Amino acid sequence: MADLVIPQPILDELVAHARALDPYECCGFLAGTGQTVSRVYRIKNIVSLEGAADAAAFDEAKVQHLSRLTPDERAEIAFIMDAQEMFHAVKDMRKNGLTLQVVYHSHPHDPARPSVTDIKIADDWEENWARLNLTLPIYLLISLKDKTCPDIRAYWIKKGAVTPARIGPA
Ligand SMILES: [Zn+2]
Repeated sequence: MADLVIPQPILDELVAHARALDPYECCGFLAGTGQTVSRVYRIKNIVSLEGAADAAAFDEAKVQHLSRLTPDERAEIAFIMDAQEMFHAVKDMRKNGLTLQVVYHSHPHDPARPSVTDIKIADDWEENWARLNLTLPIYLLISLKDKTCPDIRAYWIKKGAVTPARIGPA
């Protein structure tokens, strides 16, 4: 029994999004009802854009670290979702009776496993989901390490601990 059912067309769309942004990381949300995903929300990765270091979401240490890197380097180590697009996506879910189920992003060169940065970001967000009246999402990774054979894996990240989540196509 899968934790989450992701229909094949949606899995295909995730791979298409990852390929469209390669070599940058893509990111977004999946939403649906019950255990079944029905919608993809692509969210802009502001780390891959110039000026990302000025984003209000960063704390001082992160800004100083990120500002030393080129946009290419930044995109490959991290993703930060555009806050306004996140807000609009959640609002649209509520309007359509959908639940946020998954936060996804791609790894253009690395395996479909959460990086140290990914776990740190998930940690930072753990309290925010509850504050927004949302349940803890599953984290999904799309790896393009093997360009011809994308690898999709999902995880629970709770209190810094990573455990695989079971996903299956419909
Ligand atoms: Zn990552």
